[in-house]
Parts: sequence; structure tokens; C-alpha cells
Amino acid sequence: LSRQVKGVTQRVHSPNRSRNDPLEEDVQAFLIDEDQLHTFDDLTKVNPVTPATVLKCLQARYRLKVFYTHAGCTLVALNPFQPIPDLYSVDVMKEYHYATQPQEFKPHIFIVAEEAYRNVQGQLEPVNQSLVVSGESGAGKTWTSRCLMKYYATVAASAQAVSSQDAAERIERRVLDSNPLMEAFGNACTLRNNNSSRFGKYIQLQLDRAQLLVGASVQTYLLEKTRVACQPANERNFHIFYQMMKGATDEQRTDWMMPQDQGFVWLPNCEKQIEEDGFLETTEAMAHLGIDAERQRQIFRILAGILHLGNVSFCSSTSESQPCDLDQHSEDFLQRAGELLGVPAEELCRCLRVRTLKAGKQNVLKPCSRAECGVRRDCLAKVVYGQLFEWLVTFINSCICAGQSKWRNFIGVLDVYGFECFQINNLEQLCINYANEKLQQHFVAHYLRAQQEEYVSEGLEWSFVKYQDNQSCLDLLEGSPISVFSLLNEESRLNRASDSTALRGRLEKELGGNDNICWDKFSKVPHFTVAHYAGKVSYQLEGMVEKNKDPVPPELIGLLQKSDNLLLHEIFSDKETEIPNSKGLSRVTVISKFKNSLENLMKLLLTTAPHYTRCIKPNSDCRPLTFKNREVILQLEACGIVETIHISAAGFPIRIPLKSFVQRYGPIGRCKRHLCSPHHSVFAFGFPHSCVADPGAEGANVLQQQVEKLLRVALQHNASRD
Ligand code: ADP
Ligand code: MG
Repeated sequence: LSRQVKGVTQRVHSPNRSRNDPLEEDVQAFLIDEDQLHTFDDLTKVNPVTPATVLKCLQARYRLKVFYTHAGCTLVALNPFQPIPDLYSVDVMKEYHYATQPQEFKPHIFIVAEEAYRNVQGQLEPVNQSLVVSGESGAGKTWTSRCLMKYYATVAASAQAVSSQDAAERIERRVLDSNPLMEAFGNACTLRNNNSSRFGKYIQLQLDRAQLLVGASVQTYLLEKTRVACQPANERNFHIFYQMMKGATDEQRTDWMMPQDQGFVWLPNCEKQIEEDGFLETTEAMAHLGIDAERQRQIFRILAGILHLGNVSFCSSTSESQPCDLDQHSEDFLQRAGELLGVPAEELCRCLRVRTLKAGKQNVLKPCSRAECGVRRDCLAKVVYGQLFEWLVTFINSCICAGQSKWRNFIGVLDVYGFECFQINNLEQLCINYANEKLQQHFVAHYLRAQQEEYVSEGLEWSFVKYQDNQSCLDLLEGSPISVFSLLNEESRLNRASDSTALRGRLEKELGGNDNICWDKFSKVPHFTVAHYAGKVSYQLEGMVEKNKDPVPPELIGLLQKSDNLLLHEIFSDKETEIPNSKGLSRVTVISKFKNSLENLMKLLLTTAPHYTRCIKPNSDCRPLTFKNREVILQLEACGIVETIHISAAGFPIRIPLKSFVQRYGPIGRCKRHLCSPHHSVFAFGFPHSCVADPGAEGANVLQQQVEKLLRVALQHNASRD
């Protein structure tokens, strides 16, 4: 056993594992019949475990349309990029749900779902569960989360609810309806995924004592609201706008002042027919959730107002003391935007073109430059859309959340954006990648460390495997007193125009000695490069401080508070309108807010038993049943799957509580009499994986020795307790 552990340890350690071509490298070492590769339901059974063998196994399975594979404690899910009939039907759900040993069934997301569902009851006391779904954009996270929710909505529905006539009243229905609604407002078509979630979410499914679904609550993270006013090339705005354009009745069009052929600057790529037929589904979901016709009208008028606002543009001013003129056709759009947002058009126009400054106790008016006018217009759209989204989430929570006394435990499903590395990366990617670092740390800490510590506490011989700990990268990003975040926040709290070159200088001076950050000396663009656990990412500094400040001119808030659109009025009624003096802007920055919400999430996750699903995108063109080796291997590396398998495989995969062990194997040692005192801790015992996988004569011998040894240990243990 120790020989085997050592062998594995060496492989895990090898720090210089060539990243050049893992595909070629290890194939020589293949010990198993390649024709049988597809039969391995668990990657821990592949021998040897190398990036190449793992990849080949996944590829062989994918070819046979097998999309799920265990990797020890983690489930790997390959995206088929086409609907697979009957893979997720209610009948299949029931098979897994009613199975005595679902783990013995084919790998499936429903195994993870069922395991969590059974674990909630806990052996001694109930334990909340978390299903963490990760992977890059388009890998299938949201799809998987939806499957999980549907699973619980089916297997945990109360019998009474199922027979209830009024389906819309059922809580499972409402929980499921929250999905299309949030996706309409929070998803968009990007280059990577036609239905890309532009926010993160953690949904807690609330279960009562009888383990029935009685409610849910959703927490969302960092909506990419810049998209509303600025869509990257060849990408689109949020789905809801296209749904409106396509699905509206004539009456609604008139109400929104949108003739059929009207083009909108903020609605690019309308000709692509993607995910936009959902208007009916969205409005039905709204109705089921209790958003009545009048509220819906308020919502859609706000959205139409935003679109009209996007068609307003400005000319350069002739003199500094004069506000900019509106562009040729902008007058009409401004009028309509004002009307739809429920504010006087003249006042809207003034707020966009003139800034109010505080000089001592007096307010001074200063005309904005053309560029500043554009920024204020975009800012208005972003703040309205962002707040509308928040209102929607709060509303959804108010109608799906069960009262405190009704539920006892929860199963949380986490669907957050995966690691991102684009040509140009900015604050959004920094936040997203930071979140991924945090989740990776949680994974490493929880799984790898806990597993190894358990071996020590159980007194098992075990040589520690060194795993890649990402603490140093997290220290670089968020540590105190000096870190990337602290410097960015400091800069953002100063009331001065930001200067990215100066900021780069500061980062270099303060953090230059840190191994996790570097700079391309020859680049003219101010940036910094962070070595994340999943790879290096260069972040551009231009605009980062401004994004972090996310300033909203108080005049705009004041304007919205006067809106006669009741929803807008309600949303903004408690917002701050104080004009900041020259000393300080609000202390809350995007980073500090995000860090805070993420810390709360991590605290919550730590109180739960986690289950991990890693979604893999087999090709970047979203082509059905196409498996690109290189793309997959990069993702396997990014999530450390090979290391995870090594540890699971080298470790003790079979665990039986002492009591059951004794009941089952006691007779072998003819010492049953001495062993009946129950001991609650789980006693891990070690059959090297090879002898379970291949119980030949030698394997059986090892097995027998192990059992005898364990019985001796158990006997001693019992004697010492007595
Ligand atoms: P992510 O949330 O990771 O960005 P999605 O869950 O939106 O990715 O998946 C992208 C697309 O891939 C989906 O719109 C769907 O078409 C397809 N897809 C993902 N998982 C599956 C699956 N299990 N079966 C069929 N299609 C899938
Ligand atoms: Mg998604």
C-alpha cells in the first residue's frame, strides 16, 4: 500500500510536468486496454492517471454519448451541445431517486442530486448541502443547475401539491418559474454561449422536516450591467429586450412607442434568431409569480425607455460655458425616453448635460463635455437596469421564500461564471477570477485537506500529497494591508481623475516582489498580469478605477425619484442623492461590495457539505458531439481534475462505518463477540484501488490481509474503549 501511495505521490508532485504535450507523453505508459476505456465510470479506475489517459477515457465515452463520469468525489459533465432524449425525464429521475444504491447506476447529475438529498438527513443531525457547479462559459453550468432544480421540484414535491388542481400555486412551479425570468433579464448571447448568464447565483432550496420542497431563496452576484449600454462586438444586449421586440402585441408597441421597424443602437445583432422567442414564457412566469399586468407594464415601459435613451447622442459644444446640443434625431428619442421613464424630458436633458458641483455651501452648475454627456446617459441606463434587476430578485424571493418556521434545511445550488481570460480583461474579469480563486480554495481546503486530515485522525498510514494551494494568489488580490484590491480601492476613493500609468507604478512599487504578479516590460498599455491557479491573465488598467467607483451622478437619482412610473419611484425612493463634496466619494466600491458578498457566500458554503460538478465544454464552437482534445485538456488542468483523481484513487475510496463493518466482516475474524460496541466515527479502511479493480489471486491476498489487520485494529480500539 505504501509503495503505491508513494508512486502516486511522485506523480502528483512532479513539479515540472511538461505542459507542452501531455497527450503524447504518457500514452506509452497506458496499462489498460484502450477498447475498454469507455467502460470506466470513475476516472479513479484509469491506470495510470495522467492528463492523457483521463482525456482518452472522457473522449471514448463522449464518442459513445456518455456525458457523465465520476472523478472521485467530483462529477465531470461533458456538454453534448444537443438535446439528449430521455436523459433527464421524470422516469429517469425516479429511477435514481428510488434506487437503493443510486451510486451503482450510470454516472449522472441525478446521482449527485440524490446523494445531497439523502445526506440532508445526516447520520446524527441534518446537514445542509451545497452543489457547486463550475466550468467555463458555455460548459453547461446553468443547464446543470436547472436539471438539479427540476430534480428536486419533482422528487421533493409534496403529494398534496402534485394532486392540487391549481398548478400555478404550487411552490415547485414558482421556484422553476424564477429561472426563465432571471435568465431573460440576466442572460445574453455572447461569443461563447448563446445563453450566457451575466450574473452569478446561489439558490437555496428549502426543505421541511419531511424533506419536501417548501420554498427557495436566491442570491445573485455581480450582474454585468455595463452590457445594457455597451455590447461587445458581435454580442448582444440582455435577452429581455429582444423578446420584447419580437413578442410584443401591437398595443404594447404603441404603449412603448416602438414601431415595428424602429432600430435601436443598444439592440445590436437583432437579425440573429437566438433565444428571443421567450416573451410569452417570461410574461407567464411573471404572472405566476404574482407580477400583475400593471406592474408588468411599468417594467416594460422602463425597458423601452432605456432603449430610447440609447438613441440619444450629443454634439460637441461650441463653448465651455454652453451645454452640448443634442444630435440631429435625438430630440424625439429623448422626449420618448422621458415619457417612458416618467420624468420631464427637459429635466432629463439637463441632468444628462449639466453637472452640479459643490463649492463650499453652494451648488455650482457646470456643462459637461460631449464625452461626459455620453457617460451620464450610459450611467442612467446602467443604474436603472441594475436596480430593476435587483428589485426583480427581491420580488422573486418574496414570493418563493418559505417562512423561517416552515423549513429546516436547504440544498444550495451555486452557478457562477467560470474562469475568464479574454484578449482584454478588466474589472469584471478580475472579480470573476477572484471568485473562482475563492471557490478553488474552498475545494482544496474542504476536500483535499479534509480527506488527508481524516486519514491522520483515523491513524492511517499516509504520505501527504502536496497540492497546489492558491493562498498566495488570494493574498496578492485581497490580502491586507497591501494588495491589488486595497490599492485599487484607495485610488477609487480619491476624488480625482484616475491615471492608469500612475496606478501601475504604485502596483509595481508595492507588489513588485510578489511572485504571483508581473508586467510585460515592453507593453505600452498599463496592465498587470496575475498568475491564477487556472492560468495567467493580464488585466488592463485603463478604466478600471472608474469601473470600480461605478459613480452615479446624484442628479440622476434625484430625477428618478420624481418619476411617475410607480416602480421606478419605488426603487429609487431610498437612494442617496447627496452631492459629494470634493473630499470623498462613497466608500463602497464595486470590489468591496463584491468581496463582501463573496465572503458571506463562502461562510455559508463552509457550513454545508459540498458536492462538486465540473462542466467541460468539449469544443468552443458549441458544435454537437465534437470533442477537441486540446480544449478539453486545458479545462481539465484549469480545474485540477487530475490531482483530484490522484488523491481520490490513491486514498481510501471505500468507507464503512465501524458498526456495519463489524457486522459484515466480524465473522471472518471469529471475534464478533468483542466488536459489537458501536463507534460513531466513520472508519476508513484501505483496499488499494488496484485490488478492488482487479481481485486476482494477489489482490485477494492483499484484501484478506487488510481485513485481518483492520479487525485487529478494531479489536484493540474496542478494548481500549471498554
Ligand atoms: P454556462 O452556464 O456554463 O455558460 P449553459 O448551461 O448555458 O452554459 O450551456 C450552454 C449551452 O449548452 C446550453 O444552452 C445548451 O444548449 C447546451 N447544453 C449544456 N448542457 C447540456 C446538456 N446536458 N444537454 C444538452 N445540451 C446542453
Ligand atoms: Mg450560465
